[in-house]
Amino acid sequence: MIANNERQEERDFMVRFQIAARGIRDKRVLNAMRRIPRHLFVPSSYRVEAYEDYPLPIGSGQTISQPYIVAFMAEALMLKGDEIVLEIGTGSGYQTAVLSLLAKKVYSIERIAALLDNARTILESLEISNVELRLADGFYGWEEKAPFDAIILSAAPFDIPSVLLQQLADGGRLVGPVGPLGAQTLVRMTRRGQRFHSEALLDVAFVPMRSGLSEV
Ligand code: SAH
Repeated sequence: MIANNERQEERDFMVRFQIAARGIRDKRVLNAMRRIPRHLFVPSSYRVEAYEDYPLPIGSGQTISQPYIVAFMAEALMLKGDEIVLEIGTGSGYQTAVLSLLAKKVYSIERIAALLDNARTILESLEISNVELRLADGFYGWEEKAPFDAIILSAAPFDIPSVLLQQLADGGRLVGPVGPLGAQTLVRMTRRGQRFHSEALLDVAFVPMRSGLSEV
């Protein structure tokens, strides 16, 4: 379920002028971006800006990604609908909600409890039921649920952790930012047996991936 038609026109404009206009073609991704009410995932003080073409603060020093980047990463995962996906960095839960429409099941990990609680409340209120959330350090992945057909990182490590690559299914894709602040690249790693094919997709600016659970 979802069916929250508030601000539908703004979402349609967002998809047309920010996302389709920049070359995103996957119809399932465009539809998902039209359906998920992004304004519910941002703090009320930023709600008027929810459909603008930039990232927004979500509290705890973190940000919800620019709509185009969410769509770009979703498309880069090449999902057909029957995949098991792991997301590192639930944050607001917005990307999680978009992915829930594109895959069979989404497992999502967040290290900040306040953000995870908030994301859980919104996802439940939209009756999105194919998502499982966990408070943990995403550097370890989610071994019990592996292998994953796709893994998405919403925060940037210096190098892609090999633990995560080992949790990919054969043929699976990991899409995420990598590198230090100011010099990050969005990469896609595709698993072929014990080999990984790497592609650089885009220059990006994400919050850093941090170890351990947050104290606050
Ligand atoms: N896709 C999210 C983006 C959130 S920002 C959204 O749509 O809102 C990235 C998130 O990654 C932050 O919430 C941050 O706390 C989280 N994060 C950073 N390092 C992490 C780690 N090691 N494990 C889990 N989450 C992590």
